Formats: sequence, structure tokens, C-alpha cells
Amino acid sequence: MNLDDNESWNTIYMGMMKRLVILGAPGVGKGTQAARLGTEFGWAHISTGDMLRDAVRQGLPLGQQAKDYMDRGELVPDDLMVELVGDRIKQADCREGFILDGFPRTVVQAQKLDHLLKVSDLTVDDVINIDVSQEEIIQRLSQRLVCETCGYVATTAERMKEGDKCPSCGQRLIRRRDDQPDTIRNRLEVYESQTRSLIEYYRERGILNNVDGLGSMDEVYSRILSTLGISSVST
Ligand code: AMP
Repeated sequence: MNLDDNESWNTIYMGMMKRLVILGAPGVGKGTQAARLGTEFGWAHISTGDMLRDAVRQGLPLGQQAKDYMDRGELVPDDLMVELVGDRIKQADCREGFILDGFPRTVVQAQKLDHLLKVSDLTVDDVINIDVSQEEIIQRLSQRLVCETCGYVATTAERMKEGDKCPSCGQRLIRRRDDQPDTIRNRLEVYESQTRSLIEYYRERGILNNVDGLGSMDEVYSRILSTLGISSVST
């Protein structure tokens, strides 16, 4: 097939249109994997954590409502989150598919998401659950550095320090306010008590794919592609 021919290209591309949810505890690498999938397959990457942090930075009313919950490592109320995501998935860039990263985080959010999609005759196609042990998560989060401007996440292998320049945009790398030991502990408890049950929610619907999150970013990415039954368009 000649990939310069737009029609052929669209046939392949549209065949891979997906509405995905990526699940996993904080620090399992959801954001990194979701961003890569989004870039490669043209799916909008919707990170509710990034949207909330932007709203806080810009001093928007949503940011003011969310900030205290985020600083404590607690969940922002469901109604605020559902409204935020409901508006986002209606945007034009979501028509070719999207990948939700950090949403849903409660069964109520998952039910509301199903409802939001159902009114347009749509469903969640696949759910990827990235699995990593709690000890590994605590170690990753306590060492994690992110770019305050573009959201780049530095890996431990990059051996960066707080204040170093972001390799992607040149701005400063910082430690997230909620990546402090007490808040990390709280976020993991919140995950266990409110979010873990989503694994069962999606398993019952037959769309859950478990992926081992240990290993390099490339290894985890290949596992995700293989569980989804798709191959990289760049190779
Ligand atoms: P994240 O970057 O996904 O770890 O999200 C950072 C923080 O944003 C979380 O600890 C919550 O306080 C808040 N947050 C993000 N997504 C949601 C959601 N779907 N429901 C409730 N709170 C959320």
C-alpha cells in the first residue's frame, strides 16, 4: 500500500481510532506512556492532573477550587472532574480518539464517563492498567522531577537535579508539591481506597488489559502496544 496516498493512510489510521483509559497508581508512568501513545496515534492525551495544575498556575476558579485537595493528595470532587472531562472530550481534537490519563479515579467518575459517551453512541474501547509494586512507586515518586512548564518527566537514568534545565523545553525541573513523602503516602492510600476498584469495574466489562510497568519506558510501551494488538506506526 502506498502510504503517500492519503486515502490508504486514513484507512489505517482511522482503523486505530480508540477511546482509551490508562489506569494505575500515581508514579507508574501513566503520563509518559499516554503522551507517547497520543503523539504516535493522533489520540488526544487528556491528563486531568495537568489540566488542574494549569488551572492552578493560571489562577482560574477551577484551580482555586482544586488546589487544596491536590496539595493534600486528596481527590478533587467528582462533579468538578466530570464537568472538566465532559467539556474536554467534546473538543475537535478528540474526534480521532483520546486517551484519558488520571480519569476516572472513582467508580462514580467511571459511570459518568460511560454516560457521557453513551449519549453520543460511544464507549470506552480499552483500558490499560499499569501495574507496579508499592515499594517501586514510593521510590520513583520521591525521586521524580518534572518540568514546571511543559510537564516533561525526567527519568532516574537522566540523573537530573532540581533546578536543572528541562531537556525538552529548557525551563526548570522541579519536584511536584504533591511528591513529598507525606503526600505520596496519602495519594497511595487514596488510590487503594477509591481508585483500585476501577480495575474490577473494567474487568467486568471485558475491556481491561493488565500491563507490567517494571522496566524501561520502551519495554512498557511495547507491552501496551502488544496488549492493544497494534504496532508502532513509526517502525
Ligand atoms: P495526577 O497528576 O494525575 O497524579 O493528579 C494530581 C492530583 O490532581 C491528584 O492527586 C488529585 O488531587 C487531582 N486529580 C487529578 N485527576 C483527578 C480525578 N480524576 N479525580 C479527582 N482528583 C483528580
